[in-house]
Amino acid sequence: MKHDCHYHPGEPAKWHCSECQIHYCTRCMPDADTHRKHGLCPKCSRVMRYLGAATEAVPFWNRLSAFFRYPFYLDPLLVIAICTLVPLVLSANLVGLVISLLLFLALLKYTYAVINHTADGHMKPPPLAVAFSGEGFGIAIQQLLVFVVLGALIGAAGFVGGPVLAFVAMALVVLALPASIMVLAMERSVGAAVNPLNLMMLISRIGWPYFLLYGYLVLLTLASGAAQEFALQHFDPWLSLPLAGFLNSTFTLILFHMLGYLLFQYQEELGFASDLQESAGPEQDAASRDRGNRLDADIDMDIKDGNYDRAESLIKSALKREPDNGHRLEQLYRLLTARGKQRELRRYAPRLLAWLADRNDAAGMGELLAAVEAVDPQFQLDDPELAVRCARCLYHRGEYRRALGLLKEFHKRFPDSQQLAPAYILAAQVLANGLEQWEKATAFLMFVQKRCTSHPLHQQVTDYLQQAARQEPLKEPRARFSLGD
Ligand SMILES: [Zn+2]
Ligand SMILES: [Zn+2]
Repeated sequence: MKHDCHYHPGEPAKWHCSECQIHYCTRCMPDADTHRKHGLCPKCSRVMRYLGAATEAVPFWNRLSAFFRYPFYLDPLLVIAICTLVPLVLSANLVGLVISLLLFLALLKYTYAVINHTADGHMKPPPLAVAFSGEGFGIAIQQLLVFVVLGALIGAAGFVGGPVLAFVAMALVVLALPASIMVLAMERSVGAAVNPLNLMMLISRIGWPYFLLYGYLVLLTLASGAAQEFALQHFDPWLSLPLAGFLNSTFTLILFHMLGYLLFQYQEELGFASDLQESAGPEQDAASRDRGNRLDADIDMDIKDGNYDRAESLIKSALKREPDNGHRLEQLYRLLTARGKQRELRRYAPRLLAWLADRNDAAGMGELLAAVEAVDPQFQLDDPELAVRCARCLYHRGEYRRALGLLKEFHKRFPDSQQLAPAYILAAQVLANGLEQWEKATAFLMFVQKRCTSHPLHQQVTDYLQQAARQEPLKEPRARFSLGD
């Protein structure tokens, strides 16, 4: 029987620890080796049982009747009906042509969605809305481009090696076409879908079942063609045309569902897009990525188990190794904020503020500063560059008081800093443009004029002073200096 992951309900379990009696999915076990079916329990480090074989999909050749039932649900039938019947009743003018083309694109989009949907493990068709909403129409153009490239390939082969080579190339292209459609559906990239290495890898990883499926596809195409032919010959056009269109679309859906199912059945072997895309990168990268993924999974489990202290200490020790890892800082920020741990937020405030400044998140900065001030009303940043960066971000989002707070007594805290001129010009802008306090702004500008004579910004101060005297907004100079990057 099928089990769900303990931490991700709805995800099929792939691993089971008989010691802890816990089921894990692939997301929980990013460091496990599915090829050698080896994984250690994240809780007790014992070797776990691999359920892959038990949860694996029924081979497609054992569920052929299910493939034929696939189009006979309300949503796909509606899509087929709309996309094949509506064009028949439209008049043959430009508007009719455009609508027919759009409906054709919608049908194509729906059939590609069938591949992805099936590959994700859904054995029922995707909803109707998929065909007619949102983006994704590019897939039709991409498929067209794939055909153009493949056609050019055959042409080039014929040009170089005559009809024999052209025939060989054609045979190879025809053989690889289902693989190409599958790659296109998963990766949405023309380059990947015509890359012979990708196609060969996909075919070789699936192995002989690919050719079995191929046989089915050929038979189905022939059957579909024969049925349409029969309809066209034996019925009146008012019946035969819709019937042929309906048959054609139905068979296409079945074909694409089978392609998606092949991806689903061989997901482990294929590793999907990531494996197909990435050639063997440096070993070390993969290893550290694995460690990071393992850590993410552990943190996720601890939070879901309510072990917040453990999650917090995991994140903190990871931050000791990589102090500027934005992903970890975000995890820490969210966890500490959710737990209301103001003292810890105070401890990590400089790094968290730097991270928030990188994201230009003034609202987050405001919240963090409020939490920090609750335990440390005198809080100030020790890094002048960071203080100016944060203040600038706050100023641009209208958080004037907070921006000024970060710049308070800057000349006493950092008397020799190169940031002094930018800090006080910024303070003047906050006061003038944000709070309309021209006199105070002028005082800051005077300070810069008197004390920062060697700073490149010094030349602009005269302009600012004139603007302040006229009570105009202090305009940012056109070519802004870059802040230490
Ligand atoms: Zn899981
Ligand atoms: Zn265990």
